[in-house]
This record gives sequence, structure tokens and C-alpha cells, in this order.
Amino acid sequence: MKKSILLLTLFVITNLSAQQRPKLVVGIVVDQMKMEYLYRFSDDFSPNGFKKLMSNGYVFQNMHYNYMPTYTAPGHASIYTGTTPATHGIVGNEWFSRTLGKEMYCTDDADVKTVGDGTADEGAMSPKNLQSTTITDEVRMATNFNGKVIGMSLKDRGAILPAGHFANWAFWYSKTGSFISSTFYGEKLPEWVSEFNNEKNYLKYINKGWDLYKPASVYNESLPDNNPYEGKLYGSAAPVFPYDLKSMYEKNDAGVIRATPYGNDLLAEFAKRAIEKEELGKDNITDFLTVSFSSTDYVGHLLGPRSMELQDTYLRLDQTIADFLAYLDKTVGKGNYLLFLTADHAGAENVIYLKDRKYNVDNYPSKQVKKSLQDFSTKTFGVDLILNYSNFNVFFNRQIIKDKRLELAKVKQAFKEFLISQPQVKKVYTEEEILANGGNDYSLNFVAKGYDVTQNGDLVIVDKPGDIEYSTTGTSHGTIYSYDTHVPAIFYGWHIKKGESYDKKAITEIAPTIAQKIKVTFPNGTEAKVLQEVLDEKKK
Ligand code: ZN
Ligand code: ZN
Ligand code: ZN
Repeated sequence: MKKSILLLTLFVITNLSAQQRPKLVVGIVVDQMKMEYLYRFSDDFSPNGFKKLMSNGYVFQNMHYNYMPTYTAPGHASIYTGTTPATHGIVGNEWFSRTLGKEMYCTDDADVKTVGDGTADEGAMSPKNLQSTTITDEVRMATNFNGKVIGMSLKDRGAILPAGHFANWAFWYSKTGSFISSTFYGEKLPEWVSEFNNEKNYLKYINKGWDLYKPASVYNESLPDNNPYEGKLYGSAAPVFPYDLKSMYEKNDAGVIRATPYGNDLLAEFAKRAIEKEELGKDNITDFLTVSFSSTDYVGHLLGPRSMELQDTYLRLDQTIADFLAYLDKTVGKGNYLLFLTADHAGAENVIYLKDRKYNVDNYPSKQVKKSLQDFSTKTFGVDLILNYSNFNVFFNRQIIKDKRLELAKVKQAFKEFLISQPQVKKVYTEEEILANGGNDYSLNFVAKGYDVTQNGDLVIVDKPGDIEYSTTGTSHGTIYSYDTHVPAIFYGWHIKKGESYDKKAITEIAPTIAQKIKVTFPNGTEAKVLQEVLDEKKK
């Protein structure tokens, strides 16, 4: 008896002493992917792409964003930091800075320069404005900076924010057709990146043009190809297949690939090259590759969630993911990599499509909202007090308020009453109300978690469900509603058991879960709530 206890103790000790980690962690973000797409297009997916992840991995069917605004930069930052904009500070893609007196971009950094074949603006980027650490940062520190971290996306913010502060590299796509980086990461692109760029791989996609991937009858989950809710791709006469990408490229630049499914293919090609040349997942020190597929978002914004173009983009992405999984199995080895797939936000229905079907909703472009605020200000206070309106935030001109001897509290109250009378507005919160959030107001919780007192406005507006501040074609995202918050979250591979959960989960639980799974420090801003389902693999 005593002997067996001793043996058991020894067994546990030896087991604990060996650091159990995967060779590679792969984080995939599909920009603007609604959970619903996994359901709606399910019949048309292959068994080797999304379905393989779903049937062999652990699927959270009810994963949501828990703050607003649900935009790309806050989304990527929240996935990888395990916290929300109130803590990590990425409160929008761009936001108004009172200090600078103008709008700033999430990854702007005037102290660094473009590396590679891009414009000066395209590469003046770094994670400087991201205030908390990421799971990728923690992997770097946990491996004493021997594990590599590489982030990539067509979008700068989709590459930089996931890769964190200590990344070896982040790469993003320039309109020149090249993947570029910034001097934050290094002075010169790695040889293999320059080689990839010199191959001009984007041209083969542009020359192919964009036609339907499958027979037209497969697209019966979408609206007809030519419908009034679609925008037009780079000046094309009508929103219909086939798209002549060559003439679009000739009239514009290599950026045209972004709003086609080929942007995802090009990125996957680049990811495979990175795995090969950087030897990711080759030794036993954990590396981390973050891949953010952006084309889904460009296509969604332009053509809407019910366009054949959107469906085609997902059918092709399914194949891209199937190829990528096969590559990982072959190169890194089955069971040696831990992969997760999620999205940075979901997206709304096209508002006119809803309105045409007698749902009383509408589009309220933010320019129009700003104008109504300015008109109200002039009428009520004799002067325009609006310094900025963006991301549902109202900023007052504090100097004019002081000069005019107005009382800020009274100004806020007057605007709040005005806004509440507007057809699209559901709620309006003042800075004081947001900071005093007691946790019982459902929409205030979203606002408070997205609110950084040093960077946000005097008032924050929550619109009614269904209403949108965008345009009449395509779609957008940004709100607290399920159409913007409900995203896929699938874990697959290393020590992941099959399964699914319908419990409501928060996006901020992904990063601390990975930290626990691979035994590294939590990202510093996280509330450390984990997804128990993917951790309790050993208890049977
Ligand atoms: Zn996005
Ligand atoms: Zn179309
Ligand atoms: Zn978007």
C-alpha cells in the first residue's frame, strides 16, 4: 500500500517535471465570420475543412463578444489578451485622441518605418498602443524567447495585435502586392519573405479572375447574384460573376485581391512558407503562428452576408483551410499542434433587406448622426460643441464649454435627452454612468467593458437592434447585438478532445484557456476565466 502511494507520487512528480506543450500553436481569426455561416453553408462544405475542425475538435456553439464596439482591432486584441478594450486600450480601429486633437489609428507608430516594398504610411505600425500582454507574448517569455511568434494578415492590425509586443515578426499586405513589416520587428525582411514577394504570387489569382467555385445551384442559401443589397467591386458595372480582376488590377493596384477570396489563399500560401522557412513547430520549443483571414470582412462589407459572393468566399475558404490542415499534419505532425479558430466580430444583416421585408429598421450613417448633434448644439447652445463623433462616442469641446461658462454636466444631460429622442437610439450613457456601472444593465456592461476613460468620449450611444450606422449596401458591425457578437470558437489538435458546448461563453476566455492548456503565465490584463471544457481532457 505504502509502496504504491510512493510510486504514484513519483509518477506524478516526474509527469509534472516534463513541460507538456505542443510544438506549435496556430491561432486563426476569420474576419467578420458569423457562427451562422457554419450552419448555413454546412451542406456545401467539404469534410476536410471547417467540418473536420467541428467533428474532431471542441466547438463552442455559443461564443460571444462581451463589449462594444465590435470592430476588427478591438476583436483581435481581445482574443489574444483575454481582456476587453477597457483594459487593453484598443478601443476602435481608429479613435479620437483628445491629446492629439485628431483621430489616431490603432497600430500607428510614428517612430517606426516600413520594411519592404510598401508606402511610408503602410509600415509606420507597431503594437505600441496595445496596453496589455498577449498569449503570444507569454509564450515568448515562457520559452525564454526561444519559441518563435509570427503574426500575419492582409490587414496590419490583424497581424500586429495578435503577435503582441515580443513577436519575431508581423507581416501584412501592401497594395504593391508584397507582404511588408516595420522596423519595430527588424531592419530588413527575412530572405524568404523577399523571395515570396519577388514571385508575385498575387498575379496568378488576378489573372484567374473570380468566378463561382461551384455550380450556381449550390448557392441556394444566398440571394440572387444581382440583388439591390450589394455594393460594387472596384467600379464593376454590376455585382455579378464573373469578376474581371485583371482590369480592376490595371485600373487600381494589387490591393484589389483583398475583396476577393484569393486574399485568403495568398495568405495561406504565405503561412505555409513561414512554417517551412522559419521551421515553426519543428523543435520541442513551442512556436505560435497567428493567421487572420481578412477577405471575408472586405467581401462582407461590400456585398453583404446574403450575397453569392460571400457564400463563394466561404466555400473557397473551406478548401483553403482543408489544404492548410493537411499541410500542418504533414509538416508539424498530427497531434503536435494546437489550433483554434474564431472571429474578431460577426456582422449585421443588410438593413435595407430587412426593411424591404417590413422590419422597421434603417440606416443612419454616422455623418448624419454627427450633423444632427451639431444642429442640436447650435440651436440649443448657440455654438457647435461637438469635437468628434465616432465609434458611437460623442466628444464635447471642453474648451468652448469652459469659455462659454457652460456646465459640462448640463450639456451632457441636454444631449442625452436629444439623442434618446432619435429614432435609432436605444440608450445613451454618460462617462459617469459608465464608470459607475454596477453590472446589472445588460447594454451598459458592453459599453463599460469597451470604455477606456483615458480614450473614450463624454457620451456613448447604443442603437436599437437592427439599425445600422453604415450604408444601404453590404453590411457592417460594431454593436452589442448577437448578430455582431456571435462567433465560432473551435479548438482542435494537441490534447483536444472532441465535443461541443452550448453554454454562453465570452471571447476573453480564449487566451487564458490557452495559457492554462500549455502552462504559461496568463496575459496580464485577463480576468482569467477559462473554458473548462478544453482543459479537463485528462479526467475521464
Ligand atoms: Zn474585422
Ligand atoms: Zn452578386
Ligand atoms: Zn469589418
